[in-house]
Amino acid sequence: MAVSQHVQQQLTEASWIRRMFEQGATLKERYGADQVFDFSLGNPDLDPPPEFHRALVETVKTLPSGAHRYLPNAGLAETRAAIASRVASDHGISPTESGVVVSTGAAGALNVLMKSLLDPGNEVVVLAPFFPEYRFYVDNHGGRLVAATTTPEFLPDLEAIEAQLGPDTRAIIVNSPNNPTGRIYDQESLDALAALLQSRSPDATLVSDEPYRRIVYEGSPGSVLRATPRSAVVTSFSKDLSLAGERIGYLAVHPEHPDHDSLVAAATFTNRTLGFVNAPALMQRVIASVADLSVDIRPYAERRNLFLDGLRSAGFDCITPEGAFYLFPATPDPDDVAFVNRLLEERILAVPGRGFGTPGHMRLSYAVPTDVIERSLEGFARARRR
Ligand code: PLP
Repeated sequence: MAVSQHVQQQLTEASWIRRMFEQGATLKERYGADQVFDFSLGNPDLDPPPEFHRALVETVKTLPSGAHRYLPNAGLAETRAAIASRVASDHGISPTESGVVVSTGAAGALNVLMKSLLDPGNEVVVLAPFFPEYRFYVDNHGGRLVAATTTPEFLPDLEAIEAQLGPDTRAIIVNSPNNPTGRIYDQESLDALAALLQSRSPDATLVSDEPYRRIVYEGSPGSVLRATPRSAVVTSFSKDLSLAGERIGYLAVHPEHPDHDSLVAAATFTNRTLGFVNAPALMQRVIASVADLSVDIRPYAERRNLFLDGLRSAGFDCITPEGAFYLFPATPDPDDVAFVNRLLEERILAVPGRGFGTPGHMRLSYAVPTDVIERSLEGFARARRR
């Protein structure tokens, strides 16, 4: 077998994702795509704002000679400057321009950061439920992912987190607004988390993965940069500018991080050696002029309300998400996989909560047209009654 045992093992563990995908594809073939209610993908379906397309056209028209060559590994100076001012407006604290590394999405930034922070056997704490890819991003660089449970409302539980901190903890990743729950963590909870880290794992970096930061309906997410200097932000333009396929994002290190210069140098180096080399050149030029724009989130807000009301009327128990574009209801059957299979009989695709480290729930993405939600509700009600 040419494939490593390690990757074979990962493929087996992640096989439910492939199964879901395959079952969805079969259903779409049999019934037609518009007769299948696919809530399984977090793929933003709103168009980027018109200013983005105008900037793209203008950028292409005015490309300087040599525009398609390799770029500095950390990104173009003007792009890093625009991103530094975006971070300042989101967080109230500005990284230095040199503290920004432009990346291939948040996924690229997380891999760069994990590679930069981890020695073999080091641990990274995440809060369950969590984005399933974290497991691979940590493992890619020899680390061990450790999950702490959250409160019944899916908010940070300091005692549970403290129980997971140890001498090998190098980082904790928080994700707010959260995929899959949509919950946001306020400043007070991030301050408390930073104080806990300071007392129990003073060398660990508090990392905020926040691609949904500008998709917020209620409340306001706190900032890790305001909570502790030993922090970094990773994010992208995938969700708030609907540019997921363009693979453009960044990481920003707190200007007073005690290891600021060496961490930025490491991230710049690992961006190169992991094979990203530099984030896509054309997008870097466009982003330099539209870094502060966001999509109009009103369609997401309307769908959230419609879906939430519909599911609750059908008897589902679901926390109100304050941001992102997911619902994470409890499954009426504690066996989430069994319930998700029952939904398949209604041609509804959902993702079992166990993939996110929290069984007994399912994730539903409402990055789908409104009529898909409306037409699916009867099927949800039927599956629940059965
Ligand atoms: N982090 C979270 C929580 C996500 O939901 C995603 C994508 O769905 C990512 C990171 C990666 O996003 P990207 O690499 O497109 O920026």
